[in-house]
Amino acid sequence: MTTIKPVALVTGASSGIGEAIANRLAAAGYSVYGTSRRGTPALHQAFSMLALDVTDDASVDAAVAELLRREGRIDLLVNNAGFGLAPAAAEESSIEQAKAVFDTNFLGVVRMTRAVVPHMRRQGSGRIINIGSILGVVSVPYVALYVASKHAVDGYSQALDHELRTHGIRVVVIEPGYTRTAFESNSLQADAKLDVYEDIRVKVTKVVNQAMATAEGPDVVADVVLKAVRAERPKLRYTAGKTAAQLQFMRRFAPAGVLDTGIRKALQLA
Ligand code: NDP
Repeated sequence: MTTIKPVALVTGASSGIGEAIANRLAAAGYSVYGTSRRGTPALHQAFSMLALDVTDDASVDAAVAELLRREGRIDLLVNNAGFGLAPAAAEESSIEQAKAVFDTNFLGVVRMTRAVVPHMRRQGSGRIINIGSILGVVSVPYVALYVASKHAVDGYSQALDHELRTHGIRVVVIEPGYTRTAFESNSLQADAKLDVYEDIRVKVTKVVNQAMATAEGPDVVADVVLKAVRAERPKLRYTAGKTAAQLQFMRRFAPAGVLDTGIRKALQLA
């Protein structure tokens, strides 16, 4: 008797966290489809690649249709595609840049969810794993738009999990802290820089670069994703990595003033 492999779709699997998750799921027995805007044919043997831009409705629909044509079902969606902005003050990004961050990091999740949920509902089962960030529950300065986009993912996921539970679908948010990937080099520079923020930009960038250089690798996040995928009764949120766990601990148990001071101290702000 042949057993049917469960089918997973992982957005942004061309590098970093998404690639690590796709490999981990493939090793765990999933039939995995990763995605990338470039649609590069799989050099990776472990999973197939589909072309997908999460900011483009037609591209989202086409990728999901192609996966269903090949497999006939979808059991797991991992919304991982996303990018950051290099450290800068909130007012140093234009409205266009703010829209671009939300278009990928938040509306990308919404587009993928809308495309996949009808199929999971018909199946009566499914799981959606959203790669948020610890910055989706703890706000730090000089990455305000990124923080806001990840808070949106967190709130959306929480509401969605309540709605879809009755259809056999659970929604989970993974909250990584600093993770060593190409994230920093793929981050956009603020497009409306002001001289008044020059010194602080340089200072915060240095702190972030140092933290990224010594951060844990993306396998740490992939391990947590697999745990959330396998959990019979998943939690809404899972932190991934040491920094995220520390921040989450402070958020839950320390007085708000202590967390506030801790954030300013970590970024060496006056
Ligand atoms: P990478 O830059 O290494 O990977 C980002 C991935 O997203 C790439 O595969 C890229 O694919 C894809 N992507 C970007 N834009 C789009 C788009 N419009 N449509 C489809 N795919 C897109 O960064 P990470 O692996 O670090 O980031 C992955 C996720 O983890 C992001 O959501 C990020 O916010 C989150 N995260 C990262 C942390 C970190 O410290 N690294 C910490 C907390 C959360 P391609 O360019 O091939 O299209």
